Amino acid sequence: MSVSKKILFSTLLGCMFLSWEIWARTPVVLIDPGHGGDDCGAKSYIRARQRVICEKELALEIALKINKLLKKNFQSYLTRTLDRTISLDDRAQMADKVAADYFISIHLNAHENPQAKGLEVYYLDNHNNIAVHKIERVENKDLKGEIVVINQILADLVIERTAPISKGLAQSIHKGLVSTIKRAFSQSDRGPKAALFYVLALSKRPSVLLEAGFMTHMRERELMADPNFQDKFAEGVANGITSFIKKNYKY
Ligand SMILES: [Zn+2]
Repeated sequence: MSVSKKILFSTLLGCMFLSWEIWARTPVVLIDPGHGGDDCGAKSYIRARQRVICEKELALEIALKINKLLKKNFQSYLTRTLDRTISLDDRAQMADKVAADYFISIHLNAHENPQAKGLEVYYLDNHNNIAVHKIERVENKDLKGEIVVINQILADLVIERTAPISKGLAQSIHKGLVSTIKRAFSQSDRGPKAALFYVLALSKRPSVLLEAGFMTHMRERELMADPNFQDKFAEGVANGITSFIKKNYKY
């Protein structure tokens, strides 16, 4: 082979590898620790820490652990790594910035009935009344009036496109959590459910919102502040996301 042919051949080879690199993009996951800064979320006195703890703190602790595990296989980012205020809009914009394929929001639940307990895995949907009722929940609280109406329309369009993927992802995460925390910690389980959370709709991609348990339940709040539980919870979520991506992501 002549020198010029060799150069041409190696250039072509280089281009092929480059296009493979672009084409074989690593999936991107954005983990969203709920609340932060001025927004404490739910709060309760945790005996093990001897102080009142906010949902925003435990959500961040769990999210950091999930992020660490996901980074082994994928590109994974957090909407916040510190205790700072971020609007639902800003969280959604971050999903665009990092070109996230999946958006996972981490929360801890609260209820006026102190007996209410259990893990919940929500996926974005608006096809039933229970889901629409969820608009009133605390996770949507910084949206009001017209913005809600506008975002309702936006949500409808996004949901049509992403609902089936979100549902599959939620089922896979739920399965991962059942095999880690449900067995090890006898955590109650309310199963995967449809809901309309604006932070999920605004993210414009397949998304899931997790409620790890209830801050208002005496046993569950201690459990969620326990680093061993948090490790297993993060492992269950990361396993669920990983197996979903391996089965469904089009590389
Ligand atoms: Zn929350």
